[in-house]
Amino acid sequence: MNKPLDLKELMVDRAALAKRLRQETSGEVMTDSASRGRYATDASIYQAMPVAVFVPKTAEDIATAIQIAAELGIPVLPRGGGTSQCGQTTGAALVIDNSKYFRNILDLNLDKTYVEVEPGMVLDHLNGSLKQHGLWYPVDVSTAGQATIGGMAGNNSCGSRSIAYGNMVHNVLGINAWLANGQIAEFGNYANSSGVAKQLGDFVKGLATTLQPEIETHFPKVLRRVAGYNLDIFHPQSELPYTQDGSVNLSHLLVGSEGTLAYFKSLKLKLAPLPKHKVLGIVNFASFYKAMDSAQHIVKLGPTAVELVDRTMIDLARSNPSFKKTIETALIDHTAQTPEAILLVEFSGEAHAPLLEKLKALEELMGDLGLAGSVVPMPDANLQKNLWEVRKAGLNIMMSLKGDGKPVSFIEDCAVPLESLADYTQALTDVFSKYGSRGTWYAHASVGTLHVRPILDMRRDGAQKMRAVAEEASALVRKYKGAYSGEHGDGLCRGEWISWQFGPKITEALAEIKTAFDPKGLFNPGKIINPPKMDDASNFRFPPSYKVIPLQPALDWSAWNVQNNPVTEETSAPGTGGDPAMGLAKAVEMCNNNGHCRKFDAEVMCPSYRVTRDEKHLTRGRANTLRLALSNQLDMKDESSQLGSDAIKEVMELCVSCKACRRECPTGVDMAKMKIEFLSAYKKRVGHSLRDVAVAYLPKYAGTISSIPLLPALLNLRNHIAPIAKLQEWIMGISAQRSLPIWKSKTFWSNPKAITPYQYSADELSKQKGVVLLADTFNAYFEDENLMAAIKVLTAAGYQIHIPHKSQSKAANTEQNTCSKEFCCGRTYLAAGMVDKAKETLGELVNHLAPYAGKNIPIIGLEPSCLFTLKDEALVMGFGERAVTISQHAQLLEEFLANEVKAGKLNLNLKAASKPVLFHGHCHQKSFAAVTPAMELLKLIPNAEPKLIESSCCGMAGSFGYEAEHIEVSKQMAEASLLPSIRKSPDSWVVADGTSCRHQIADGTQREAVHIAKILAAHL
Ligand SMILES: Cc1cc2nc3c(=O)[nH]c(=O)nc-3n(C[C@H](O)[C@H](O)[C@H](O)COP(=O)(O)OP(=O)(O)OC[C@H]3O[C@@H](n4cnc5c(N)ncnc54)[C@H](O)[C@@H]3O)c2cc1C
Ligand code: SF4
Ligand code: SF4
Repeated sequence: MNKPLDLKELMVDRAALAKRLRQETSGEVMTDSASRGRYATDASIYQAMPVAVFVPKTAEDIATAIQIAAELGIPVLPRGGGTSQCGQTTGAALVIDNSKYFRNILDLNLDKTYVEVEPGMVLDHLNGSLKQHGLWYPVDVSTAGQATIGGMAGNNSCGSRSIAYGNMVHNVLGINAWLANGQIAEFGNYANSSGVAKQLGDFVKGLATTLQPEIETHFPKVLRRVAGYNLDIFHPQSELPYTQDGSVNLSHLLVGSEGTLAYFKSLKLKLAPLPKHKVLGIVNFASFYKAMDSAQHIVKLGPTAVELVDRTMIDLARSNPSFKKTIETALIDHTAQTPEAILLVEFSGEAHAPLLEKLKALEELMGDLGLAGSVVPMPDANLQKNLWEVRKAGLNIMMSLKGDGKPVSFIEDCAVPLESLADYTQALTDVFSKYGSRGTWYAHASVGTLHVRPILDMRRDGAQKMRAVAEEASALVRKYKGAYSGEHGDGLCRGEWISWQFGPKITEALAEIKTAFDPKGLFNPGKIINPPKMDDASNFRFPPSYKVIPLQPALDWSAWNVQNNPVTEETSAPGTGGDPAMGLAKAVEMCNNNGHCRKFDAEVMCPSYRVTRDEKHLTRGRANTLRLALSNQLDMKDESSQLGSDAIKEVMELCVSCKACRRECPTGVDMAKMKIEFLSAYKKRVGHSLRDVAVAYLPKYAGTISSIPLLPALLNLRNHIAPIAKLQEWIMGISAQRSLPIWKSKTFWSNPKAITPYQYSADELSKQKGVVLLADTFNAYFEDENLMAAIKVLTAAGYQIHIPHKSQSKAANTEQNTCSKEFCCGRTYLAAGMVDKAKETLGELVNHLAPYAGKNIPIIGLEPSCLFTLKDEALVMGFGERAVTISQHAQLLEEFLANEVKAGKLNLNLKAASKPVLFHGHCHQKSFAAVTPAMELLKLIPNAEPKLIESSCCGMAGSFGYEAEHIEVSKQMAEASLLPSIRKSPDSWVVADGTSCRHQIADGTQREAVHIAKILAAHL
């Protein structure tokens, strides 16, 4: 009973399991190694291959799946966002993903302030729906955008404001759940319970009664204790009672059970009024110890949160231009030395004035504690919001450490009573230094739960150090009467500490509870009951046996091929990390599975997941599949074809190379570049299609087509004669539903004399107010009016313009014998996986631009995807320092103009607009933070009242939206937000800088979107 099943037996059963699931349910069944591998990890250091993965569509599907698994003796593991930090969401089981289809509110009772939801509902979505009613669900975990209510209940999750609202266990009113035999039971108020729930409740009550003295001795009295099962529901030990009226609620037994007792079908939750006002007081400390020591006094003022940010994090934020200004709003004196720590003390309530009194009380308290003048009062809501964002980003920067040593979470949420917090943190800091590591401290000072992750290298001596540090930390927790597991659960890394925490009798009772609920031990085995050792390397994602296959990538990944120093966090020189895949594998391994890419509304990442909600279309799914392929874990015989394999194709298929992950992924996983690697390897394997060639070589043949009389008009017939479009779709796979860009016979380049005035050498230009303006293929051949508009604006502003062109350039220092006379950024080649061709083409442009960049001349582009190639891919193509210098001068037109205005060098003096302006940012523009300058510039047009459309990718993504197999997904991406926003404003200008964005807008709304250059020129 409760022993792990024999893996061989499971392998045999997989086929039978899959067959029955396919026959008897409507859900999605996955058994291939790549799909299973995508569900083999959570945000912990562990990995276990599932037997199979099941994505149910209906509740009946789940019930049937549990039944089938029980009959076949296969374990079941329910899964939400998979963001757990302790390995509780990994296991050799049938993993059932609730997050795709089970995300509905089932019942909302405003009078009684409760809501009943399905287990896959994401916290932020729930709170988004509750906001209009002035309510919220206040267990505000940091992963609110990804964490599901089922997973939060499974882990007994806790938010930053738990001091005011409690943990999950304090906020769940009832759970309907399937038991391991497929039976449904209703867990709620014990006094009113009936049937199997009552029987189980009676059984647990019997155990609790017998063990009352043990419970009172061994259950820590702190609010933050999430270890084991809540056997104390009958004799509560938590600082905060589980129920307000002292009654016993059986659902609390399931909260924190990590999928080991029952499978939640629906959860009834207690709601709280949304606080109308919040103020923040930021206390600056010259000593970390003093900060920790003060927390016990501060909480007496009744704050809703007291959060710590230590000096390392403050310094990290100060060193980052995007965060510097905000973090400095929290400092008493930003010219002085960085404080050792700050505490963010939040008060919230119905009225503002009493909160200001609280701030005063905080200032007085700090004075009494000998720290007069140490508080920065922050009553402004916007400033507060920004500061909370920086607190989160600080952690992200810490997590982005390159090299094999990573901040590992295993003692990151021990909770100690506040009066011992200072001594505990001091002692643990000493432990870290004893083992050659260091901890950065942050988070919930209010409840004595500070997150800290020493840097360990799990492929080398990490496991030994982990055990040693854990042993010493546990002794400290015992000394200070704390809880070893205070927030993130037990899983694989803390399971073995349950018996340490509670003693043998309670541990035995927990096993009896498990047996009563799940006699065959099929629900998430090995968690809470019979756990493995935390340092059992066979459960590690990176065990010492982990090996990367040797590989020569197409791009330069040496910046990732480094190792780090766990104390100073300094990294070794690029290329010295020992990665057989020359840094590509290490870049892929940066994904720590935190699930931040499971975004639905905020920012851009990941557009494909937003449409499909499939793990494989998530940045995380892609990174995991790549990691498994590059470490030869995908059951493939031929090592050499891993990167270009069909398994990788499947995950890359819907990656639109939007570059959002590059910016928004906390650890900087840059999937757009990885897709280039895949395309390069894949196309080498299968060859290029006619469509690839047509897209890739467009910059080469565009000139020829436009110069042959009547040919442009002839080709344009395709947009008007449906059978031609159909034929093209059949031959080339270009969707007949799309219109194609219109060929012109008069283009920007068609009159060479017209460009003669725009030819200067770098020397000549540097002596004037000069700029380089790139004439990209799209704006030169298809929308030359944009280039003309840009020239008009720049000329009106008094700039001399150089437009790179091979035949006319006096400055070109290479003579290329190619059929095309125009330079090109190589983007279209990269999109087709022709990296060598892209290097050759971009190399010419780099050679041409280098002297201009060397003279500090701004290099201006109009098409974001072309311009940002100079700031991104060009840096990893072996062009050396020249590319770096060029990247420092490359900018969009609006970035250049906005900077000139800010510097007081430019006054555009624009006319008033006749209608308001809507702006849609191109994904690459967002990735490089170039949307703000566009908005700043548009604000200079009187009456324009520019509004930014909150949208992800428009869905075109270069050629993606034209491809027949992607047309539907492309339209869905556009319909997610962009097109509806435009339709809602029929009388606005729509401004979009991306050629393909404009195309999508025209196709989807029949509205013309214009480039910013055009709208500026129109208002000169
Ligand atoms: C960067 C980061 C920050 C975090 N911050 C916090 C924080 O502030 N506070 C906090 O408490 N945690 C935090 N966590 C941990 C984690 O995000 C939370 O515990 C979260 O609530 C888990 O939700 P999930 O949907 O991802 O659950 P999963 O990881 O998918 O599942 C969690 C557990 O619940 C079980 N489960 C899931 N669904 C069901 C179901 N239907 N029935 C029965 N059992 C089920 C699973 O089997 C598993 O054991 C953080 C994690 C990361 C990576
Ligand atoms: S890709 Fe980035 S955001 Fe997504 S899970 Fe991995 S680390 Fe997190
Ligand atoms: S580039 Fe865009 S689509 Fe591709 S993984 Fe990153 S966020 Fe997702």
